[in-house]
Amino acid sequence: MAELFLNHATIVTMNPQREIIDDGFIRICGDHIADLGPSSRFSQPNDRMSINLDMRGKIIFPGLINTHNHMFQTLTKGLGDDRVLADWLKDMTFPAASYLDEESVYWAAVCACLEGFHSGTTTVLDYMYPHPKPGLSDPIIKAFLDTGVRGLFGRGMMDTGQQFGLDPRILQDRDAALADAERLLQKYGGRDERVSIWLAPAALWSNTEPMLKGLAELQRRYGARLTVHISETPFDRQATETLHGHNELRVLEDLGLLNNKLLMVHSVWLTDQDISQAAAAGAAISHNPVSNMYLSSGVAPIPEARRCGIPVGLATDGPASNNAQDMVEVLKFTALLHKVHHLDPLAMTAGQVLEMATIEGARALGLERKIGSLEVDKKADLFVFNPELSLKAVPMHDPVSTLVYASSSQNVEMVIVDGRIVLEGGKPTLISETETVAATRQVAENLRRRAGISIKPAW
Ligand SMILES: [Zn+2]
Repeated sequence: MAELFLNHATIVTMNPQREIIDDGFIRICGDHIADLGPSSRFSQPNDRMSINLDMRGKIIFPGLINTHNHMFQTLTKGLGDDRVLADWLKDMTFPAASYLDEESVYWAAVCACLEGFHSGTTTVLDYMYPHPKPGLSDPIIKAFLDTGVRGLFGRGMMDTGQQFGLDPRILQDRDAALADAERLLQKYGGRDERVSIWLAPAALWSNTEPMLKGLAELQRRYGARLTVHISETPFDRQATETLHGHNELRVLEDLGLLNNKLLMVHSVWLTDQDISQAAAAGAAISHNPVSNMYLSSGVAPIPEARRCGIPVGLATDGPASNNAQDMVEVLKFTALLHKVHHLDPLAMTAGQVLEMATIEGARALGLERKIGSLEVDKKADLFVFNPELSLKAVPMHDPVSTLVYASSSQNVEMVIVDGRIVLEGGKPTLISETETVAATRQVAENLRRRAGISIKPAW
């Protein structure tokens, strides 16, 4: 088999020793890392089909893992600025979501995956909660396959919540939604490791007890993982109490869903008791600092959760509350937010941020044996960082500090997912970026007009 050699790079492995190899090589065979180590041990391949790339002056990091997204919101970037969550949902996101169709969600997802590559993202969990019509799951999975990203598709659910302001046009028929989730689990379960299916009830207050029981049953039968927005704002806590009569963690526990297959999103307003309960159950958290700041939701207790042993992954959230797919930007915001919130520069360090974006994010998704670090036999998911592509990254004394605090997507030169080069010289290799830009602009403008969303002046 033709092999790919990346030689003379600085390799930030994120292995258990957090080893950084100053002048190293990686040998990629098929979808995995067959060998890596100091370049002094490297021998020139005999096979003429093999590709040998000189990476002098460049850094190789494990691919970044984006644990929460709503890719359809690519089409509504900037339309919901300067609002709290409830108004952002009511005035912009729900109306837009009501008019989604196959073409619009496909191009939104392709554009989101490509934008993610530019900031070193190799794995993304897309949480597709609105299904105003059938058939909107498969175009997103097609976008995963067409772009080459490692894609986790969260089949979103919501069958109640009008009393809390949820738009009835995006409520789903319970049986149809559960049947579609089961169809996807059967179709994609274990077939291609680059695509997997998750269960994704939008929130506990937007799902009835029978729906949540149906999801618990699917989890038992298929071993599927589940992700849900938890305590993004105090409203989530109150509405869940009103609908179910208990707090969010108790509702999950009573249904058997508070377990090590659970990824709680946001978790800004978790109490100390919630954190201990989640830690004891082995649940994980997806931290979305840019979105939490954008919607003025609050600061999630991430240092506290990590101290209790909860795996925390990082995420952009949907591009309508970010307004980008830029994981490099998320790295810097994560560090700065917790430093200033705790008035403590050690509350979050560059190293801890990179852990959450790589190996700890992999743990949060249950994928730590496959991705999240550069080690022999793991999947070849990585990106090549070239500090010379922007003055911001010059000079570079420490690659981890430079990546977190002084870089941008301009520095991401190459991305490899599952052993395949999906971005090279800053350009996607499997799908045309020019065509994607044109199609995305078109479907975004069509959607905005159909949904009757006006552009709010910025001042
Ligand atoms: Zn979300």
